[in-house]
Amino acid sequence: MSRPKLLALLCLAVVCAPARAVEPPPLAIAIHGGAGVIDPAKMTPQHAASYRAGLAAALDAGYAILEHGGSSLDAVTAAVRIMEDDPQFNAGRGAVLNHDGDAELDAAIMDGHGPRAGAVAGVRRVRNPIELARLVMEKSPHVLLVAEGAEEFALEQGVALVPREYFRTEARVRELEEARRQAGELKAAAPGPTGTVGAVALDGAGHLAAATSTGGLTDKHRGRVGDSPIVGAGTYADDDSCAVSGTGQGEFFIRQVVAFDICALVLYRHLTLAQAVHEVIRKLRHTGGEGGVIAVDRGGNIAMDFNSVGMFRGARDSRGRRDIAMYRDAQ
Ligand code: ASP
Repeated sequence: MSRPKLLALLCLAVVCAPARAVEPPPLAIAIHGGAGVIDPAKMTPQHAASYRAGLAAALDAGYAILEHGGSSLDAVTAAVRIMEDDPQFNAGRGAVLNHDGDAELDAAIMDGHGPRAGAVAGVRRVRNPIELARLVMEKSPHVLLVAEGAEEFALEQGVALVPREYFRTEARVRELEEARRQAGELKAAAPGPTGTVGAVALDGAGHLAAATSTGGLTDKHRGRVGDSPIVGAGTYADDDSCAVSGTGQGEFFIRQVVAFDICALVLYRHLTLAQAVHEVIRKLRHTGGEGGVIAVDRGGNIAMDFNSVGMFRGARDSRGRRDIAMYRDAQ
């Protein structure tokens, strides 16, 4: 066959080849409402339905943002803010109380594009700590602001402060009384984790984000800061690897740099997200730490694992997945 004829045939083949469908980038979001606390014997059908409704509201609000072309950063902010306003979770209103009977709130947000991060710790009058964490990231040169300094920054940014009583619910007051009674009787070990909230997401532009917010642990010492606002411990996101939000006994998460460890296993050892999460949660259990994580990678894969009795969680993606669960068997 002559050269021009061959070229003509090749061109025809290219022009006539069926156009290959271009796959839209995957969208994915996962949320948690805390690990460890869920005694199945005490979980009435009404309680279960109420937790599920709270998780569903946060999950669907976050996913709607992604579906409408919004950023993963906006999706995780919205999901966490909804759970901060829901008193059944340990964040914002309804946060657990410290030994003095006050809510001291910690939160962090991380944008995998950059990456950039912002966090606050020990704030007592900020209604939505996740929004203040985001302002720290976007409007200050800093990463972490604490206590009065963080509240001063909130006022500078036009964020109204709320009275400390806003956070205190009857259920948390009873929980604190019980914890103090047990401590008096020397019955209590370290107080268990109780309902921290978090979200991770991948948006249509391929950016990952993570957010976590908490009141920490019941009866904690004033000034105690957990893992949630510590970048790499309870919260981490990097577009090159994954986004992670943790919940559990923060001291263990800080010592083991849990969230970063998962992303490092994905980036440097090329583990799948599920393998990396499994490995780190196993290691956590080995050292006596209880808790779990939610994670998403840049391929839109979601992994959620825990070594406690349960973890409130939900996941939704553009491949049709939507599930909400509390215990190991996806119930
Ligand atoms: N990780 C949180 C903390 O230690 C508690 C929790 O997840 O419930 O502050």
